[in-house]
Amino acid sequence: MKRVLVTGAAGFLGSHLCERFLKENYHVIGMDNLITGDLKNIEHLFPLKEFEFFHHDVSKFVHIPGTLDYILHFASPASPIDYLKIPIQTLKVGSLGTHNLLGLAKAKDATMLIASTSEVYGDPLVHPQNEDYWGNVNPIGPRGVYDEAKRFQEAITMAYHRFHGVQTRIARIFNTYGPRMRLNDGRVLPAFIGQALRGEDLTVFGDGSQTRSFCFVDDLIEGIYRLLLSNYVEPVNIGNPQEITIKEFAEEIIKLTGTSQKIIYQPLPQDDPKQRQPDISRAKKILGWEPKITRTEGLKITYEYFKSLPPQELNKKEHRQFH
Ligand code: UDP
Repeated sequence: MKRVLVTGAAGFLGSHLCERFLKENYHVIGMDNLITGDLKNIEHLFPLKEFEFFHHDVSKFVHIPGTLDYILHFASPASPIDYLKIPIQTLKVGSLGTHNLLGLAKAKDATMLIASTSEVYGDPLVHPQNEDYWGNVNPIGPRGVYDEAKRFQEAITMAYHRFHGVQTRIARIFNTYGPRMRLNDGRVLPAFIGQALRGEDLTVFGDGSQTRSFCFVDDLIEGIYRLLLSNYVEPVNIGNPQEITIKEFAEEIIKLTGTSQKIIYQPLPQDDPKQRQPDISRAKKILGWEPKITRTEGLKITYEYFKSLPPQELNKKEHRQFH
């Protein structure tokens, strides 16, 4: 039985990855420091004998007993609101954490996949973004802590591959949504659905003409799975190329939820990318992968998930202890 380590296991993507690898008959070791992750996302896995969990911060030395075949590094705050609240941890998990895990991959002769991001393209001047574009990032802006950590992460991953011969994979993940997103993490989809469910107006930042392209989580996990098992070392965009303006997106959520609330406009956050759409030609060619789930289908599933949460979750403000 192959053994895989998933960091950020209690998070949105990490929890879905754990499930997928358990389904594929792997022994799964989950790791999370629970700063932004939540054990609720994986508590249903605890009874399984092929699942184990370590409460650990990967910015510190990582020890795993026994063999390891694969490492998927998905630990990181991933919403602009989180970067503002925990900038140092964001930098550390992408840099020190990645360094520790690459050392582990080298010691165990494991293949390591890193969760990189469309944020490496910054506020892109090339549209749609292909993997050969080097990006337009403000290193000292509010997003710099995430963007530069992720750019460093790619650099050190390639260095370990070239210098130490570690088998590595780089997934550049675009906006993704689905069940287990944190309701109050500030990201646009949980923000809009949460507002609709609470009977509040939907807050569009700026004039809403900025674009994003949203990928349903099941499609994303399939892309990551295929990339890990490929032998392709260069970065691969994984995302859904269906692009939409944030204003249109708010209108879709109003229609989906049937809320009688309206759109209100608030100031655009600093360095908010004006447009974002993945060019997925590489993923199509190398992995034979493309998204299958339409936004209509994916949003319906996600809305059902948020509706099924206990009402106290909906009104809960985030009281996380950040240190
Ligand atoms: N946004 C918005 N209203 C909200 C939250 C976000 O209009 O309540 C906008 C945000 O300014 C950005 C887009 O939605 O243009 C996506 O934001 P998100 O934080 O989800 O992620 P990003 O793609 O910017 O990393």
